[in-house]
Amino acid sequence: MNQPSIVVIGSSNTDMVIKTGHLPAPGETILGGSFFMNPGGKGANQAVAAKRLGGNVTFIAKTGNDMFGEGAVRLFREEGIDTGYMLTDAVQPSGVALITVDDKAENTIVVASGANANLMPGDLAQATGIIQNAGLVLMQLEIPLSTVRHVAELAAAHGRKVILNPAPACPLQAELLKHISIITPNETEAEILTGVRVTDIDSARAAAMVLQLKGVETVIITLGAKGAFVSAPGIEELVPAPVVQAVDTTAAGDVFNGALTVALAEGMDLADAVDFGCRAAAISVTRLGAQAAAPYRHEVKLT
Ligand code: ADP
Repeated sequence: MNQPSIVVIGSSNTDMVIKTGHLPAPGETILGGSFFMNPGGKGANQAVAAKRLGGNVTFIAKTGNDMFGEGAVRLFREEGIDTGYMLTDAVQPSGVALITVDDKAENTIVVASGANANLMPGDLAQATGIIQNAGLVLMQLEIPLSTVRHVAELAAAHGRKVILNPAPACPLQAELLKHISIITPNETEAEILTGVRVTDIDSARAAAMVLQLKGVETVIITLGAKGAFVSAPGIEELVPAPVVQAVDTTAAGDVFNGALTVALAEGMDLADAVDFGCRAAAISVTRLGAQAAAPYRHEVKLT
């Protein structure tokens, strides 16, 4: 099948995790337990999920000129992602997150965005053509807002659809939102974007309406184990999540977004695409990790 291209533009990080008995107090040094390095960053997680689920994926991100960046790009290539437009920053290091997790699964996380914060609109000059011709463009908010706006304008001017996963959330101007076709906040993000506290279907509907009045046609609010609420012209429904035994919900939203984008690129209708997203994300929460937990296409059952 000749798949429409999916262009994911976003962040790539390396998560460095140490397990400890307790979290260190200021000034305290403790001997931790095991150490893991995991590839992360919402952009990278979503690109990997989309690829594993059958998408024709190009990922654009900026890493540092260091071993973390090189390692990340190697992994994307091994997944089969097109890395031809990846960028290297001459000065800033690759993004990293330093994470400690204690026995009670409490954590502390410090992120140094590094090169991700330096992915500027001008860096995307070479990629203009693939953005203008993309089947779908998928972005998040771990890169500068000016870049998100630039890409959204460019894509919209060429009739391309942009999916924005507004995470981590910040208030967004209508100037940006009017170029977004589909927005996918979780409950907390929906509240930050709209001021409406999302607790149930009625409040999800109210939050969706605020975003629609600012120009986004399709609003999908993910509701954790409850599934996802979808509102667009001609459709308003709660798509339930499959019931599973969740062990780690890290990156559930990333897998949902990757899956949703693949399904829409394939031409599935909106309700089916959201259902596909919920099924893929439900598998990911039964597994540990972020990219490691993203399922492959053959694992996702359709009704
Ligand atoms: P985020 O990970 O961004 O906080 P959510 O928690 O809303 O986003 O999760 C995204 C999607 O992942 C949900 O819409 C749902 O489909 C799926 N999901 C999350 N948690 C569970 C769970 N415990 N059981 C089944 N599916 C889940």
